[in-house]
Amino acid sequence: MRYVVVFPVEKDPEFRGCIFSIRGFIQGMNLPLCYYGNPILREKAQPVTTFDAELEKLGKDMIATMREEAGIGLAGPQIGKSLRIFTMEVPLDMDEDEAGIPHNLGLESPLVVVNPEIEEMGDLDEEMEEGCLSIPDVRGKVIRSFAIKLRYQDVKGEKKELELKGLAARCVQHEFDHLNGVLFIDYLSSVKKMSIKGKLKRIKQNYGK
Ligand SMILES: [Zn+2]
Repeated sequence: MRYVVVFPVEKDPEFRGCIFSIRGFIQGMNLPLCYYGNPILREKAQPVTTFDAELEKLGKDMIATMREEAGIGLAGPQIGKSLRIFTMEVPLDMDEDEAGIPHNLGLESPLVVVNPEIEEMGDLDEEMEEGCLSIPDVRGKVIRSFAIKLRYQDVKGEKKELELKGLAARCVQHEFDHLNGVLFIDYLSSVKKMSIKGKLKRIKQNYGK
């Protein structure tokens, strides 16, 4: 294992300070989150077919919500929209190699990704601890590809392509899974799954449907 990072980012005031320093201002509205137990999180989300002002607003609202919740990624189903869209904002200083060189220098951030397709590059060999805004206080190690090629559309419908490594690549794989009804806990070992059973039950009870 190379390093441990969790999403959502821990609410550490000092750390948040350093995120704010690279954040641009985005005017958006906070949206209510959907939590584990809500069936929308298990649905396969629908492709986005209309690229209009409403979609642009949804992207901004999702960025605002992601920031409010101190997450580095947020997918449509997590805010009750079964649409193939996610947002991502990975702080550069959380995503660098051992020599301190950023993995994804120049990456647009925050980024709104619509209708993504992923091509994994290299082996599934990168183990890291993850969390999820929809499953509060649950963490677990997940093995994913270190590098990916992402094809997607922006909110205007323009086709884009990105090669990503490290935490940004992991975040894309996590958010992409949400669009297919897959949660990071699905990858955990049966022993680990047993150990979080109580927490999951409580999340279902506390947050309802
Ligand atoms: Zn998640």
